[in-house]
This record gives sequence, C-alpha cells and structure tokens, in this order.
Amino acid sequence: MFATEQSLEPGDQRIVILDKPLPKCDRPKPEKIEPGFRYHRLRKVIHFVCVIIFFILPLSSLMRFDIPKQRFYFFGYELWISEFSIVFFSMMFLMFVVAAMAMFYGRVYCGYLCPQMIFSEASLTLESKLQRTVNKYVRWDAKKRNLLSKSLFYLISGLGATVLAFVFIAYFVEPHDLLHRLMTLDIKTTGGFAGAVTTLLVLLDFLFLRQRFCTTVCPYGYLQGMLGDGNTLIVHYRDENRECIECKKCVRVCHMGIDIRTSPYQIECIHCGECIDACVDVLGRLGKQGLIHYVWGEEGEKLGTGEKTWYQKLGLRDAKRVVVLLIILIYGAALFTALSMRRAVLVEISPMRTTLYRQDESGTVYNRFRLQVANRSSKQQTLVLAIDGLPGTNFVAFENAVVVDGGQSLEREFEIAAPPSAPLTPGVNHFRLVSRVGNERDSVEETFITPFKDSR
Ligand code: SF4
Ligand code: SF4
Repeated sequence: MFATEQSLEPGDQRIVILDKPLPKCDRPKPEKIEPGFRYHRLRKVIHFVCVIIFFILPLSSLMRFDIPKQRFYFFGYELWISEFSIVFFSMMFLMFVVAAMAMFYGRVYCGYLCPQMIFSEASLTLESKLQRTVNKYVRWDAKKRNLLSKSLFYLISGLGATVLAFVFIAYFVEPHDLLHRLMTLDIKTTGGFAGAVTTLLVLLDFLFLRQRFCTTVCPYGYLQGMLGDGNTLIVHYRDENRECIECKKCVRVCHMGIDIRTSPYQIECIHCGECIDACVDVLGRLGKQGLIHYVWGEEGEKLGTGEKTWYQKLGLRDAKRVVVLLIILIYGAALFTALSMRRAVLVEISPMRTTLYRQDESGTVYNRFRLQVANRSSKQQTLVLAIDGLPGTNFVAFENAVVVDGGQSLEREFEIAAPPSAPLTPGVNHFRLVSRVGNERDSVEETFITPFKDSR
C-alpha cells in the first residue's frame, strides 16, 4: 500500500510517494582525482636507456679503461696512463656529481640509474613472469611446475650473467680480445680468469643477492643519509585526514620490502616512487588522492607544487646548493678545458750533455739532442722540426719528417751542426726548436754550446 507524505502517521512504514521534488543535496562534490604521474613507467624508460648506454659505451670504445694497453678511452679521447691525473680528476668529478645528486634529489641514482638495481629488478621480474607462465600453460603438479620454472630461470640467468659480465669486462679489456677468450673458454690467463669470476659473481648476484646488496654492501645508501638535509627530495607518507585504508599495496610493491608509512628516512628506501603509484592506484578508485609523495624535505611541499621559483622547483633551495652547483660548473669547465688543451702528439726534446759539443777537423761544432714522441691519438701523425734563432745551422743525419703511428711512442737522436761560417757567439747560444704536427705548433727553448774560446 502506498501513502502520500501528508497521510503519514509517526511510525507508519508504508512506502511514501512524494508529490514534490527532493531538495538539492548541498554536500560538496568529490575532489577531481588526477591520474598521477606514473613513476613506474618513467623508471622503466630510464632503465631501458641506461641498459642501452651500458652496452654501447664499451662495445663502441666510447669509454674503456683498457688495462692491457694502459689507456683510457673517453668519447674519442685516448688518455695514456701517464695522463692519469686527468682520468683521476674525471672520476673524482663523477663521484662529486653523484654525491651532489644525493644532496639535491636523495637516492634517485639508486632508484633510477644504478645498474645493480636495474638488473636486480629485471631478475625478480623474470623469475615471477616465468613462474606465472609455467603455472598458466603447463599442466603438471605444483612441484614439477616449480622445478621447471626454477630451471628455466637459472638457465636464462646464466646466459644473462655471461652477457653482462662480458659487457662489464669490456670496460677494461678490448671486446675482440675478450670474445676470443670467451670462445676458447680461457680461464688460464688473467683476463679469462677475471671474466669467469665476474660471470659467477653476476650470476650469484642475480640469483641470491639482488637488492640485499644495497642494504648490506653498498656504501652509497649510508653516505646519502649523511648528505641529505631538510631540503632534500624524499618519498613521504602524509595522512592528516586519516584516509589510509590499510590495503598495504604500497608495502607489497616495494622491492626493498619496507613500509614507507613508518618513516621517510629508512636506509633501505631508494626513493623509487613505486609506492606512490601504488597508493594513487588504490585510493584513486575510491575518488581520493594518494597519500605518498615526493616532497622537498619532511616539512616541505610536494614535488612540482607550491609557489616557488623555477630554480627552487629544480632543487636549488638554499645557499649551500648554489655553492655546490657553482663548484660543479667550475670543476666541469676546468676539466673540459684541460681535455681540449691536451695535445694528441706529445713531443719532448732534451739535450744530451754527456759531452757538451764535438768539433770536427773542419771546425764544425755539433750538439746532440734526444727526441721523444708519443702519438696519443689513433691516427698516424708526422712531426717536423725547425731551428729558430740559430742562423747558419742545420740538422745532421736526421730525417726531418718523423712518422708516428697511432698509439706509438718512439725515440730518436739527432745533431745540430754549426759550420765555422755560422754567426754564433762562443759559449752558450740560446735558440728555439719548433715542432709542428698537422696544424699544431709548439716550441721549446734550448741551448747550443760552442767552444768557449773561439777556436774556429
Ligand atoms: S597504498 Fe595507500 S592506502 Fe594502501 S596502505 Fe599504502 S598508504 Fe595506505
Ligand atoms: S618505500 Fe617506496 S620509494 Fe622507498 S624503496 Fe619502497 S617503493 Fe621505493
């Protein structure tokens, strides 16, 4: 039975037919939920680019610390071991940049760029994908399926470890040489033995160590704790309105196995942002914003929000950071200048003074010199010498176009002869020896010694 609103008595439970529209609900509309930036996708793209770079650098000889040849190849530059100072300062520069990155952006290197993390995650993903695929398509009992997926995982990991170890050692040994050692299963020579040991270590890392390396062996996590401060970018859980539904998805997706809700300063947290995506996924379906964010320090605003200037949004948030950035720029500029001023062909000329001079019957005076040339480029170069400021003199028994192959060092001795007609003063005569290689010209000051009493 139906009733109208007017015919109702208190306690009447009949269905009411309203004859006027319901008043409008004045509850606030739910906040529009942004889908959120996908850090997982960003990380996977960056990981892919890093893997490509990791493979390309040594295999194309863009970067190699060639131990057998004692050379450092760096984007077309071929630095010799005698130039180790440049290599050393370049390494120090890279370390300084990584440390500065930790101060500005927390452990983004660990989460986004570190090869150990990239390959550990790849190993975990491979293992779980293989397990799911075998469970889906193979109709054996659980024990056999498990055995099959584990065997496949070990097999693929073994192949992957061999390839990765090969690329890693190619940073220190020329790849053709390395391939030959691999094909002949050489474990007797130092290079072959190092390759075998590295392959084994990479495999053990893939199978057992993985992210445990970050919390047990790697010092960078601890270092980061010292470098960070109240303006460093961190991953932070904020729940002022008690909206967390305790789904624990943020914990389940974390490769480091931690709960970010307990503290933003856990040594295991690599600031990867996977928990941010997870929370956005869960709460987004309920029409709410995620509770985990990248923030500038525990008290700071969320990444990309707030009324800050562009440089503050990039992380330049105090004088300390400005100083660090200036140091990086000056250091980088000095390194670049040192590299660009470096000459491909190193020429050293020194007088041989075991005898000051020799004089023949005709009265011609000879001074002996030693020439050392090192061609630090990969191309053949020709060196030509000239005498400047010593009129009437000439080279003796010296082919004055010294050809030096790429990577070659050589040494020559030569004499400069001053016939009696040469207008030289008795004793010490100063002059310059000019060397020319292609368009590069250099000169050194030398002395030519004649008899102190003019007997010519
Ligand atoms: S994913 Fe979000 S809602 Fe779920 S437990 Fe973590 S913080 Fe709470
Ligand atoms: S807590 Fe979040 S940011 Fe930290 S490692 Fe785990 S998933 Fe990454």
